[in-house]
Amino acid sequence: MERSIETQVSQAVDAWLAWLPRWEPATHRGRVAPCRRCFGSPVLSSAGLGSDVPHGVQHGLSTRIKTIVDRAVAEYTSLNLPMLQAELDQQAARNRARSYRPTEGLDPEFEGLPLDPDPVPGAPFLFTISGLAEEAAVGIPDLPPLSEEAKAALRQEVGLADDYANMIGREVCTILLHHRLRIQAAVSEFVEPQIEAMLADLTRSLDAPFDPHDPREP
Ligand SMILES: [Zn+2]
Repeated sequence: MERSIETQVSQAVDAWLAWLPRWEPATHRGRVAPCRRCFGSPVLSSAGLGSDVPHGVQHGLSTRIKTIVDRAVAEYTSLNLPMLQAELDQQAARNRARSYRPTEGLDPEFEGLPLDPDPVPGAPFLFTISGLAEEAAVGIPDLPPLSEEAKAALRQEVGLADDYANMIGREVCTILLHHRLRIQAAVSEFVEPQIEAMLADLTRSLDAPFDPHDPREP
């Protein structure tokens, strides 16, 4: 019996709550470009994790939720969209053939982050499989080209997958509204004190730019 979307979202929030006490502020300078998964994410605004919350905290939740949407779309595609499924299967076969796959098998907190610094600002986050499907279509030079008819049919299936992804996305957002209180309580307990401590440190170092007892200072 497939778990309902509601159960999956609840379990994803549980897993994020279990991870959150281990979160620490990043000590290095963050990347310049906004995260394409988190920036403007309707999932995060439904969860109440606004832009005042550090990105690492957001990313751990948005990735876990994205996994639920991706899984639902994958199931819908395999049942209803044979041409898109064939494209994705071909892409998956190509991926398996590569010996270096640095983006696979990562923890949710790291999954989906750029492997290298990315100076180009990203597009706002969307639930869409079309980007993936386009990559799949572009990245297979060895296959015979699709006829115009087949391309049109594939485009139609990509549109249906997009519609389905948007529907599931709206559903998870509605469900997340019911989890806002426990998400907010965890942020107050585990995130805010660390940010306040960091700000206090910063204030102290600004007040005392050098140590007056240091003999090297005049
Ligand atoms: Zn992110």
